[in-house]
Amino acid sequence: MEYKYTGIILNKRDAGETDRICTIYTLEGGKIRSLAKGVRKAQAKLAASLENITLADITIVRARGLGKITGSIVENNFSFLKQDIDALTEAFGGLAIFDKMVDYEHPDDAVFVLLKEYLEAVEIAAVEKLSEKQILLRLGFTIKLLDSLGYALEVDKCVACGGKLNEKSISFNSRSGGVLCGNCPSQHDDSLSLPISSNAIKMIRLFLANNMATLGKIKASRQDYDSVRLVVDDFLRWTL
Ligand SMILES: [Zn+2]
Repeated sequence: MEYKYTGIILNKRDAGETDRICTIYTLEGGKIRSLAKGVRKAQAKLAASLENITLADITIVRARGLGKITGSIVENNFSFLKQDIDALTEAFGGLAIFDKMVDYEHPDDAVFVLLKEYLEAVEIAAVEKLSEKQILLRLGFTIKLLDSLGYALEVDKCVACGGKLNEKSISFNSRSGGVLCGNCPSQHDDSLSLPISSNAIKMIRLFLANNMATLGKIKASRQDYDSVRLVVDDFLRWTL
């Protein structure tokens, strides 16, 4: 059977003498793996169109198992992203989280669009040489991905008592899945709560309310980035 996919190459690893196994997030089938035969030979035509971080129309022939990639036509190879070390580092970080969080063969149009728009936003920031935007985009992408996969972070009210957030004494608790008001940390395993700035909370709200294309316009200080990053990293440790 021949299958056609629109997919983004997440990563690949060597197999056998000259082959590779590609992990691809596809619109039609979700995350899949398939064999790219002979692509490590010097003259392999298919190799260039199966690089990591490439959007391509991919043909796979499969009876069962991994099947075999027989064709790939590049739609977008994100060439500016790949020439920009900051963009590449953050994008690989984003894709590694994506690969860990997303299960095989669970297609989800919204998740596909989010991934595609993330890479497009990274590409635009790379074209415009806005290196400092790459961290913002990666954090925004991670929070939006968590949200799409059902790990909604509570940032509008206290996750424990539902009360309003007092600007001064809010903290973030990954196990509870959101922010705690000043009265709640002591009843919720204080040692696991992280301080979070009110600007960082606003940033997370903006991430959730905006799509990837407009998210790059959010203005924030390095301190706020760092505050959001601490919370996101801690939450990922709990979740993954
Ligand atoms: Zn509370």
